[in-house]
Amino acid sequence: MTTTTPGDTVRWEDLLPREFEQRLAQLPLVYLPMGLCEPHGHVAAFGLDTHKAVYLCEESARRFGGIVAPTQTYQIHETGYHRPWLKEVMGDVNPRMGSLPPDVVLRLLVYQLRAFVNAGFRAVVVLTGHNANQPDLRLAVEEFRRARDIPITAVSDPELVMGQFEGDHAGRYEVSQLMYVRPELVDLGRLDDRNTTPLGRFAQGDDAHLATASEGRAIIEASLDAIKAIVDEGRPLPEADAAFMSFEEAEEVWQRVAARSDEWCTLRE
Ligand SMILES: [Zn+2]
Repeated sequence: MTTTTPGDTVRWEDLLPREFEQRLAQLPLVYLPMGLCEPHGHVAAFGLDTHKAVYLCEESARRFGGIVAPTQTYQIHETGYHRPWLKEVMGDVNPRMGSLPPDVVLRLLVYQLRAFVNAGFRAVVVLTGHNANQPDLRLAVEEFRRARDIPITAVSDPELVMGQFEGDHAGRYEVSQLMYVRPELVDLGRLDDRNTTPLGRFAQGDDAHLATASEGRAIIEASLDAIKAIVDEGRPLPEADAAFMSFEEAEEVWQRVAARSDEWCTLRE
């Protein structure tokens, strides 16, 4: 028996029309959580980046309003600078990851933004738990805004807390976050697997042993403060001009993004 009601959710895919319309009327803002499956050491689940993005988006919608779009659980990896990094942290071990090339993710993002505008949203927060790709996400956003000038912010979680906490990969910062948002997906008892199993380091951070749920809570709360500032600053106007966008027009936006591929950071070593 569940005691939740249709009014308790902030997820687009879980909302019924009445509650969707109510939330949209209160604040026509949508959050897009982005993450992927990639190695996060022996102590943490592959989907760490996804789980923190989902948590931040859902908690933001609960506290500040708005609706959370279906999670984008694949991200850019293995291209450009990602390739030597993967070699460094994994050696020749299979990383068991779900990478996509940049053109697929950026084209998808353009069409996701189109879907948001057409569904009635007038502001967008794209939050990626996978850090470092966001300049390319912002390039796609910049081109989209030339077609529909509504507030759209693309940001990674370490950018939200810059100056307060130092982001990392599967170290103290990230493992602390996961210990707070999904404690059942962390097992610090496996820290030493990097030395005792053929999987080796498996991209584990050297300071993962310093992770704590209380530090994770501090990071997450600081992140939520920063998201609140983004929501307040880009507070959408319900009457904002954002006409229906056809597939053809979205394709024109994508073509402009594609024409700037020499600027994509994810293709650079
Ligand atoms: Zn991560």
